[in-house]
Amino acid sequence: MTPSRFAAARCRMARVVARAVPACPERVLEALARVPRHRFVDEALWPRAYRDEALPIGHGQTISKPSTVARMTAALDPRPRERILEVGTGSGYQAAVLALLAGAVFTVERIPALAVRARTRLNRLGIQNVEIRPGDGRVGWPEQAPFDAVLVTAAAARVPSSLFEQVRRGGRLVAPVGEGEDQRIVCWIHAREGWMPQELDSCRFVPLREGTGGR
Ligand code: SAH
Repeated sequence: MTPSRFAAARCRMARVVARAVPACPERVLEALARVPRHRFVDEALWPRAYRDEALPIGHGQTISKPSTVARMTAALDPRPRERILEVGTGSGYQAAVLALLAGAVFTVERIPALAVRARTRLNRLGIQNVEIRPGDGRVGWPEQAPFDAVLVTAAAARVPSSLFEQVRRGGRLVAPVGEGEDQRIVCWIHAREGWMPQELDSCRFVPLREGTGGR
């Protein structure tokens, strides 16, 4: 495929996502139409990069499907000067989408080889406002806290409390909650009265795992 055909495929993908995610903000759709998703998967998968499907990225992990990225991003509602923490860098695609919409993105990945590949991809695309750290994202990134919003892209029955502690008052935390087939995107707002949760769509993410390294 030529670069213009990739761009056309991306715009078509954004339209498919717009139908799948009612009330998805225009700026989120624009970001999806701009980030070259094919560059975040192996070349053999490029023909499938602009379908609304999850794809393997190695080490048993996946890049989420575009409509899921749109839902999570819309719920997180990143603003131009905000600082965002992502847990679960994976391919780096979601971080690249956030980088277009926020001021700075900090992202943690427990599999060092994935963190290195994501770094290389983002560098090649000239995306400069993303910092990647290999490690266990369940502890967040205390040196960079507080964040305006935290996005978790791996599922757990319970979101680790240290992640809530690193969100400023008025900030948001979005995470897939549950295990296996039974998962839901939940968006919490850090209100004056405490954390206000809102349950959104069902979803399917790989598990948030303990520790670092390997698979
Ligand atoms: N956001 C990614 C997709 C997420 S896949 C993208 O856009 O491609 C989930 C990722 O979370 C996997 O790469 C997995 O290794 C990582 N992960 C799982 N548990 C983790 C933990 N405790 N800390 C950091 N990353 C974790």
